Amino acid sequence: MPLNVLLLGPQGAGKGTQAKRIAAAYGIPHVATGDMLRAAIAEGSDVGTRVKSVVESGQLVPDDLMIDLIRARIAAEDTDAGFILDGFPRTTAQAEALDTMFGDIGRNFSVVFALQLGDQVAIERLLLRGELEGRVDDNPEAIAKRLAAYHRETEPLVEYYRTRGNFVTIPADRTEGEVFDELQEVLEQAAVV
Ligand code: ADP
Repeated sequence: MPLNVLLLGPQGAGKGTQAKRIAAAYGIPHVATGDMLRAAIAEGSDVGTRVKSVVESGQLVPDDLMIDLIRARIAAEDTDAGFILDGFPRTTAQAEALDTMFGDIGRNFSVVFALQLGDQVAIERLLLRGELEGRVDDNPEAIAKRLAAYHRETEPLVEYYRTRGNFVTIPADRTEGEVFDELQEVLEQAAVV
């Protein structure tokens, strides 16, 4: 059985960090739409040129473009054993499109995790990351826009997935290792089912 995992949660909750650890532990690719977009921007590809100003100011890229990007990505062979999705879906339209794609290819999420973190801690973590990593959108204005978009567009997906089973809430205001241990406990059960 493929292991298809979704990580939901606000900016700064540690989705990327945890997704990388899960990817390494279970040998499945980390599909991170933010990383894909930043790579496209760095390359100067068509997609990159189209999304650059939107991504850098902390707004959401249009659903159609994101849906096409993910459709192509999860059709790649390296996802046969599953994948860990980080950063998609972020809107109800994206979640519905993903449902349709999953229906077409006969897949479903093995587990959906919702990482929980308050805005204050999120803002502190993102400002620190901005200093350490220099990400263009880790500045106060773009952070505020991203968290507002999270609450408005993405948080409703917690309820969308909660009702479907295989849904686990994880408090994220703890160390990286503590969060990972809890994720792994759940994944150990999911991976053998
Ligand atoms: P964060 O979650 O910290 O904002 P990401 O790396 O996940 O960082 O995303 C960075 C940016 O890429 C977002 O602010 C947005 O502009 C764009 N983006 C990524 N995924 C999506 C998506 N599914 N829908 C729309 N825009 C997206």
